[in-house]
Amino acid sequence: MKIGFIGLGNMGAPMALNLIAAGHDVVGFDLMARPDSMEMAQTAAAAAKDADVVITMLPNGDILRSVAADIHPEMTAGAVHLDCSTVDVDSARFTSQQAEKHGLSSVDAPVSGGIGGAAAGTLTFMAGGSDDAFAKVAPLFDIMGQKAVHCGDAGAGQAAKICNNMILGVTMIATCEAFALADKLGLDRQKMFDVVSTSSGYSWTMNAYCPAPGVGPVSPSDNAYQPGFASELMLKDLKLSQQAAISADADTPMGELAQKLYALFVEDEDGLGKDFSAMLPRFENRNRSS
Ligand code: NAD
Repeated sequence: MKIGFIGLGNMGAPMALNLIAAGHDVVGFDLMARPDSMEMAQTAAAAAKDADVVITMLPNGDILRSVAADIHPEMTAGAVHLDCSTVDVDSARFTSQQAEKHGLSSVDAPVSGGIGGAAAGTLTFMAGGSDDAFAKVAPLFDIMGQKAVHCGDAGAGQAAKICNNMILGVTMIATCEAFALADKLGLDRQKMFDVVSTSSGYSWTMNAYCPAPGVGPVSPSDNAYQPGFASELMLKDLKLSQQAAISADADTPMGELAQKLYALFVEDEDGLGKDFSAMLPRFENRNRSS
């Protein structure tokens, strides 16, 4: 396929390189990044022109809307705009409507799997869009990822991603505060893991990504909380979940509290640049009045 790829940062560049390695004809564009071994265009519109599929991998919904306004008029009728960025549901739906106005189809397909998954081609895609559009880009998901779930119409991919990550953020906080309580009760962390990981408190954050160093499978806690999944990225996704909850009038008190705690951690404490499981040392150093 002829593919335009816009947004070649930490995630976009390795995804684009995997498409090139699989034999696709990729033209890239980025405001700043200049990856080697890729043909680059001078503008986003030039990268999008004549492409069968244009992939965007951008920081947020406002940038997505502005790039979409530049590229949609240049794209060939029938082409697909595949947005893999994590953005708000409203921007995903707006972008899809704009694509339709230009005779294009679109898929929102945010990913999980991080930079490692992007490089290894093992991302999971959560996709929203028509059956036809999904079928057209499915071969690309196979190259860049190991799994793609077609979640529903436009915006459904973003909805799935932020609901998942809201659970993840809330669960990580619950796991960390429980470890800090166990410490104060004199309970050994390994014993705590042995019980909880096989009892009804088990979760992905406890069993697969344990925030206590030296306990459970190897995770960022064993590497001085180097990300992994950085706290500021968790904060971004929690903010998106609360933006969506306000827009859909959903009651999400735990998600709201998780957003506040990660905002405090990233903006006022020392959480910036640390893995999101570094909430454990945060709780460890606090008491009820601090
Ligand atoms: P990044 O900041 O490394 O890359 C974004 C790129 O977009 C940058 O190179 C920037 O120059 C470029 N850009 C910004 N505005 C542009 C414009 N108008 N035109 C062209 N290029 C422009 O970010 P990333 O880590 O690659 O993340 C990309 C998206 O993937 C984000 O939405 C993020 O939330 C999501 N995501 C990231 C991870 C992760 O672990 N990094 C995991 C899952 C999802």
